[in-house]
Amino acid sequence: MRQPLIAGNWKMNGTRSSAESLIQGVLEGSSGIAKAEIAVCVPFVFLELAQRLLSGRSIRLGAQNVCTEASGAYTGETSAEMLNEFGCRYVICGHSERREYYGETDAIVAKKLAMVASTGMTPILCVGETLEQREQGFMEAVIAGQIDAIIEANGIESFGQVAIAYEPVWAIGTGKTATPEQAQEVHAFIRRRVAAHDAAIAEKVRILYGGSMKPSNAAELLAMPDIDGGLIGGASLVAEDFLAICQAG
Ligand code: PGA
Repeated sequence: MRQPLIAGNWKMNGTRSSAESLIQGVLEGSSGIAKAEIAVCVPFVFLELAQRLLSGRSIRLGAQNVCTEASGAYTGETSAEMLNEFGCRYVICGHSERREYYGETDAIVAKKLAMVASTGMTPILCVGETLEQREQGFMEAVIAGQIDAIIEANGIESFGQVAIAYEPVWAIGTGKTATPEQAQEVHAFIRRRVAAHDAAIAEKVRILYGGSMKPSNAAELLAMPDIDGGLIGGASLVAEDFLAICQAG
């Protein structure tokens, strides 16, 4: 009953022409894929190109970041309203790279989520622990903290319009993937955490896995009961790999 969502996170990759061929490739190969909802989260500067190529097609467009403020003197920032105008359906919020390299705190992530939702787009809230936190036994505490901070700031109702991505930091871009059992355990933990506040929302919310998901491991991850899709970095840059994951969804 939860439609799988496979979202590509291109990060800061590509040129205008490679972006165009990648989108064309995904469009060409996606016609037979009925089950999963497919999205591509492209760099801001490719949004107009992507919007044009995807117009009238079922593949959704997404962005990778957004400003915490609605408009005004915020040099270099991009507002939720602008992203909405460019046809975005999804916006990745709180990716671990942004938390680590750009100092995004849970409070900042909560504001971004609220901004995105206020325009009708759906935020993809990223959570996940580092290897050190996992090894020291803090994995659940870290994830719970990241989820609870959003519930406290924005209310549990806000999860009615959110997708969550569990992305263990140690699996991102490393080629190391969580096993399906490891991922399932955390996904179930996240769902329980949401369910403690609202069972109906918990049942509905999509929880994606991210971290070196690729054609060779997608099917077994996506077969787990609480894994409702994937947030795909590296493998989303090659049309046939991304399509193979979408097919598994
Ligand atoms: P990866 O990235 O698939 O390259 O590990 C996932 C992500 O960071 O969203």
